[in-house]
Amino acid sequence: MTLESHRPFIEDLYRELHASPELSNREHRSAARMAELLRGLGFEVHEQVGEATGVVGILRRGEGPTVLVRADMDALPVTEAEQVPYRSTVTDQLDGQTVGVMHACGHDTHMAGLQGALHVLVDQDDWSGTIVAVFQPAEEVMQGAAGMQDALRELLPGGIDVALGQHVMPGAAGEVQTAAGPIMAASDHFIVTVRGRGGHGSQPEKTIDPIVLAASMVLRLQTIVSREVAPAERAVLTIGTFHAGNKQNIIPDQARFEINIRTFEPAVRQRMIAAIERIVQGECQVAGAPPALIETGDIAPLTINDADAAARVGAAFDAEFGEAHVPSPQYLGSEDFSYLPAVWGAPYVFWMYGGFDPQLVAEARERGTFDQDVPSNHAPNFIPVLQPTLDTATRAMVAAVRAFLA
Ligand SMILES: [Zn+2]
Ligand SMILES: [Zn+2]
Repeated sequence: MTLESHRPFIEDLYRELHASPELSNREHRSAARMAELLRGLGFEVHEQVGEATGVVGILRRGEGPTVLVRADMDALPVTEAEQVPYRSTVTDQLDGQTVGVMHACGHDTHMAGLQGALHVLVDQDDWSGTIVAVFQPAEEVMQGAAGMQDALRELLPGGIDVALGQHVMPGAAGEVQTAAGPIMAASDHFIVTVRGRGGHGSQPEKTIDPIVLAASMVLRLQTIVSREVAPAERAVLTIGTFHAGNKQNIIPDQARFEINIRTFEPAVRQRMIAAIERIVQGECQVAGAPPALIETGDIAPLTINDADAAARVGAAFDAEFGEAHVPSPQYLGSEDFSYLPAVWGAPYVFWMYGGFDPQLVAEARERGTFDQDVPSNHAPNFIPVLQPTLDTATRAMVAAVRAFLA
């Protein structure tokens, strides 16, 4: 059987998953569905693998390499724009609030594409080896892959030969992008608590105002990328939250903000982390405040494609996609995918595929309005076109797996 014969199933599965998204670490229905489908294909299936809803399917077919393929399952607290009939109207509770839930990062295309690829691969009888299919929870909170590490080590003591993963991006549907070396940034998250001395808004002389102090830090921290990182390096520093006070005539006793940094070079990362520490504590000293508390939050590793494995996948994509296979830029987004092959120190390849109307993308690129006209991951209108997005995800995964399983 071919991709054509599985296409209706893949499209139906995608619409089903898109309409029933689940937040990180709560992917119960999605996980059960993935397990059920793996069982139907004859995989040995393990559920609740790791700390949450992880699913692992193993298909052993004779001698040959072991290839791990991964799709992530979680959705985001985003209310979906009204664009497609299969849109999500799901809501859930998060931090005491009711939130809309949407597959706004396209992980539904990853699941449908991987299931599609497994269906195609099972039909083919000209390969041998072992396929390990991993359906991973909680990518968005950078916990899922790390949470599966111990269980994977136990399940597969013999290790794997290569791990493969993919992500949908705001590019043209039908296009795939690969690169060797660093492809996605490392991400670090810091929570800074600035401690001042509270008091009456009319008597600042009796206080150490943590808002003025933290505001100064916020501005000074922006100089790390502009003044301390070489222009040729790629790095981002964003302060995504800032909270302090609750009344206009009270000077609060503390302020809190959160920093996210993205880097491609370990040396740049270390330099930025040291600069954050220096600036935050330096500003405290200038203000006569006690040292601030800097806590570490979510961490995502650098995603670095193995050169040999990436060359193999690249050659397979040249054959499968021709000119629609293009070199990948480095993305400042981050992934926890590499924690899976890290269990055995195995090489891996992670690649991107586009999900949007090729004509819209081409026109927007021409007009210079790509950033405005093509939705980014996590946006409420990040709704990939069904095709050729799903065909591309399926074909890419089949071609990549076949590059290793002779
Ligand atoms: Zn995401
Ligand atoms: Zn994602």
